[in-house]
Amino acid sequence: MIKSFFIGNKQKFLFVFLMLLLAVLIIPLQGRQDINPPLDITSTPYTTSLSSSIGTSTPNQESSLLDYQATSSPTLELLSSTTKSQSDTSLSQKTVYLTFDDGPSKLTSEVLDILKESNIHATFFVLGEQVKRFPELVTRVIEEGHALGNHTYNHNYEELYKGFSPFWSQIKQTEEAMASITGAHTSLIRAPGGTAGHFDDTYFKLLKEGGYQVVDWNVDSGDSKRRGVPHNEIIKEATTEIHNNQVVVLMHDGSGHEETVKALPKIISYYKDKGYKFDILTPDLPEIQSFQFKVTQSAKALKRPQPSEEWIATNVTPNAELFSHGKRLVMEIGRMETEFKQGEYRISDGKIMVPLRTMMDKIGVSVRWDVKNKLAIIDTGLNTLQISVTTGEWTSSKKDAIVRTMNVPVQMNGDALWVPLREVLSATGHNPISIQVNDQEWRIRTL
Ligand SMILES: [Zn+2]
Repeated sequence: MIKSFFIGNKQKFLFVFLMLLLAVLIIPLQGRQDINPPLDITSTPYTTSLSSSIGTSTPNQESSLLDYQATSSPTLELLSSTTKSQSDTSLSQKTVYLTFDDGPSKLTSEVLDILKESNIHATFFVLGEQVKRFPELVTRVIEEGHALGNHTYNHNYEELYKGFSPFWSQIKQTEEAMASITGAHTSLIRAPGGTAGHFDDTYFKLLKEGGYQVVDWNVDSGDSKRRGVPHNEIIKEATTEIHNNQVVVLMHDGSGHEETVKALPKIISYYKDKGYKFDILTPDLPEIQSFQFKVTQSAKALKRPQPSEEWIATNVTPNAELFSHGKRLVMEIGRMETEFKQGEYRISDGKIMVPLRTMMDKIGVSVRWDVKNKLAIIDTGLNTLQISVTTGEWTSSKKDAIVRTMNVPVQMNGDALWVPLREVLSATGHNPISIQVNDQEWRIRTL
């Protein structure tokens, strides 16, 4: 899936490049080239949600194209003060989450083959150094529908548990290694050796603040308690009955775990026979925090250096932005409602950014593209707005007279022009009146 995506993108890029070349040749004859975006106005029915009103910008009385509100954009404070959504308690459905730590290794492809044959999915908590060694296996994990989690870079307890900041930097290092292959950041973490005896409140609190979800397990296959644990013993441990319909099984696919691979088919059939559904761990799983061990006295007793407030503010706090795209972005424009799905928008420097053309599509306004002058031209009927890709200058004009010019940073991403949502709404006469956020969505109400 990922591969075809990349190939598709390459072809798309080539196509766009050729089209641009053609356009440059033709435009002197034709003047401005109109781009007709495909009509794709999605309107979803209104659903009530548990959102709480957190940030409200000043409504603009004059509400004209010319009034760019300099009010603050949604920031991280909004993200961290989200209202917890009510958990979707489908806990009665028996579910097993098979998890594999310390890979990828040569054994991972065998594990993947077995999972494929059984038509089930699992979660792989990978080590950064192994990711660098076996990038193709990381791709395969994702392509075949499994989940990836972060298991730090080198698994070295001494480094990881001497204080929070070395732990953090290994998480980031691994995350980047994964993202360079998959294009996505994962917020799932499993601590090497588990959190018990290792994590104190600082580890838990700061990882949460950074947008991460830490997952331990409730069934240990025991495959790493010593070298070469025989598969029969692994099967026995991995199928221990517990009083919980949600089972997270700890296993390993790092090198030396051939016996785990041997045990796997029997473990799978055990849970299948018992009527369990197999699923992958996701950060938004309502019960995910119940798979965390409690802080132990021994971990509390470790006198480790605490990171400074300043370090937290620079490293941890802004990090949660990376994962905020899990929410959809809903816009209520007058009586119309339209949305960007997760991944269709992003947050950059505390601002919600959207691709201009898609945005205009959704509100039914067309965008023209002046290739020669690198301008995006939006005609709202009342005003004309020109956005310069090169300078970030936004010029509003009415009947050819310039009424206002201002500078708003824009971003080119491939062939798409990305603009800050608040500014583009205001500039097209839809001043935002309120912004609400909860675990599922951002909801922007405008005039
Ligand atoms: Zn491990």
